[in-house]
Amino acid sequence: MPKLFGTFGVRGIANEELTPKLALELGLALATHLGGSGKVAIGRDNRTSGVMLEQALIAGLTAGGCEVLKLGLTPTPALSLATRNFSCKAGVMITASHNPPEYNGIKFWDSEGAGFQRERETEIERIFAKGWKMVDWREIGRVDEVDPIAPYIEAILKRFTRFKRGLKVVVDCANAVGNLVTPRVLTELGCKVVSMNSQLDGTFPGRKLEPVPENLGELAKTVVSCGADLGVAHDGDADRTLIVDERGEVLSGDRVFAHVALHYLRGRAHPRIITTVATSSVLDDVASKLGGKVVRTRVGEPDLVEEFRRGGGDICGEENGGMIFPDWLLCRDGTMTAVQFIEALDETGIKTSELNLTLPVYSQIKRRVNCPNELKQKVLKNLVKRFSKHELDRTDGLRVTFEDGWLLLRPSGTEPVFRCFAEATTAERAKELAALGMKELKAAVRGR
Ligand code: MG
Repeated sequence: MPKLFGTFGVRGIANEELTPKLALELGLALATHLGGSGKVAIGRDNRTSGVMLEQALIAGLTAGGCEVLKLGLTPTPALSLATRNFSCKAGVMITASHNPPEYNGIKFWDSEGAGFQRERETEIERIFAKGWKMVDWREIGRVDEVDPIAPYIEAILKRFTRFKRGLKVVVDCANAVGNLVTPRVLTELGCKVVSMNSQLDGTFPGRKLEPVPENLGELAKTVVSCGADLGVAHDGDADRTLIVDERGEVLSGDRVFAHVALHYLRGRAHPRIITTVATSSVLDDVASKLGGKVVRTRVGEPDLVEEFRRGGGDICGEENGGMIFPDWLLCRDGTMTAVQFIEALDETGIKTSELNLTLPVYSQIKRRVNCPNELKQKVLKNLVKRFSKHELDRTDGLRVTFEDGWLLLRPSGTEPVFRCFAEATTAERAKELAALGMKELKAAVRGR
């Protein structure tokens, strides 16, 4: 059986790995999986290969008997909302999220607007291998066009009252679909918005799409030079957000998550915060402030949603700036994340950098070691032995807890790489832990 799905969806370079033929066949496989009937919403980001793949998917889905709601250009969270609100059996998002412009991807969504769980992806792979069904010509599905953007903006605005401070916000959506939503929402809420990289361009000339500090230099400079209160950056499909403070310092994804969680969960009794093993201890500080609890899962959006469905929860988030607000959508939402953060800031009357300092500061170091995929499990076993005297968490890779920090050694799900994350209360100790992690990791890879 071919393995089509990676960490989240099918990804590849357009017309090399991800061809119109593959999109057509995935459309047919999804239609077969859905029993050859029902409505499916399709949206896409603004990559140059988007329309081509959209047309192939629509051909496959309609040939397989499904009705298609064509949403056109949309951020992923608006696709999730439309899938649920238009009572679709499934949704399809054509996006490669933070990957470079030559890539594209196809992600499936369930009727509740959450990404397909792994069992359903495996089922699609099985149908793909065994063969799909085309329906009789009388049952070929119809295609309707629907705007996902206006209802999404309206729904999000309904949840907030206009902010008081008139904060100045620089919004950098990287020439991608976040531009359709975030600048407008923030303006409607009373922010003074300065947009950069705001024209849609599928070659993404403005900056690399991943919202990480090294790609946000221009945003940081712009925030400072125009005297803004903060900056907001999304990835290519606007399901992730990072924040830049008024001095041009980038807040990491887990700090954004911590501030948003503290604000969003205020007043809730014993909130359950779902996050991954890779997220900062600052979430534990937030949970203790709120009288709540942190539950840590494997890394990845499907794992967060699975845990939410299993044990309930109040918010889910990752260290990469992706957050899920379950009473809003079961999908990471970058716009909602930005609005929550700005609402928190608006209520305080202080600067972004000052707000950031209201939570304990930790030092983090992230490193990596090359490791062939077939060796990863052996290396992991070896590492467990090496750290056997410590408190270990084996949820995903190996998380070693120390009195003043932690170390995560985890095989990447997408690359032939082993990652090493260290966090501690001081920069020196974080360096020490990272050095220890790298030393043992390299030895484990060599020792095999
Ligand atoms: Mg994304």
